[in-house]
Amino acid sequence: MKLLKKRLPCLAVMAAVLLALAACHEEKTDRSDKLTVVTTTTMLCDLAGQIGGDLIEVRGLMGSGVDPHQYRASAGDISKMQNADAVIYSGLHLEGKMGDVLASLEKNGSSGNANKKVICAARGLKESEIIYNDGVPDPHIWFDVHLWSLAAEEVAKGLAEADPENEADYKNNLEQYKRQLAELDSYIRTKTEEIPQSQRVLITAHDAFGYFGRAYGYEVRGLQGISTAAEAGTADVSRLADFIADNKIKAVFVESSLPVKNIQALMEAVRSRGFETSLGGSLYSDSTGDAETGTDTYIGAFKHNADVIVQALKP
Ligand SMILES: [Zn+2]
Repeated sequence: MKLLKKRLPCLAVMAAVLLALAACHEEKTDRSDKLTVVTTTTMLCDLAGQIGGDLIEVRGLMGSGVDPHQYRASAGDISKMQNADAVIYSGLHLEGKMGDVLASLEKNGSSGNANKKVICAARGLKESEIIYNDGVPDPHIWFDVHLWSLAAEEVAKGLAEADPENEADYKNNLEQYKRQLAELDSYIRTKTEEIPQSQRVLITAHDAFGYFGRAYGYEVRGLQGISTAAEAGTADVSRLADFIADNKIKAVFVESSLPVKNIQALMEAVRSRGFETSLGGSLYSDSTGDAETGTDTYIGAFKHNADVIVQALKP
């Protein structure tokens, strides 16, 4: 079922190309038994690795700190996706600038590997579980751990379809990972109880935390909308500053994948209203962090978020 991973150029005459071919060849001999899986976001890169384990080779397109709303696929990305055995994307228009590329992969697998499996993680959710704002679906489903476990099921199902021989392993890995997710879910609930009900208000750079708020009982306000495509206007800053000063919200948060300047402007506006709100810390919203801080996994990043939020908002 595995096809040639890289389509070789017809006129591979230059030394550089020959070197690249040698590398390809080496990779192919080493890992010919592994399913090649391309993922868009860092959360999905981690998820694919958790479910696929040693059976797959994951290639993540977006690095840590990259904003998926704004990410455009390069020619290299497109060729990786075309030649992969499976492509996993998040969906609900999270990858807003990759819409055409993903649609064409969904439609006909495009060129390259014709047997490719295209997996949309959000397809594991029921319609009633999706949050809509003015008719636009909120794509940040990973912020509700239960919804992310549904996404994990969808990924496991897709990988098993792409590689039926190893279906039992994908299922086992899924069950194991779902247990870890359930632990994470109860960790967040327990931590949240340290914050008084009236202070469970999460103010961040953009509306990424709607699912988090619904699942764990926080009121959530973002400076920008659910995509980062639209800039926050002065009216938005002013409205939110009023809200923070009126409700004496102790802290606001920045997001690792977005510039800090908007939140600084907001804090300044709050100060001009005679109230001081502090910077609660940096949250991972649309990408995970790095191995050094243990936030390179979904679970690590989410734990970090819960700890930072609770530390800043508890009395
Ligand atoms: Zn976002």
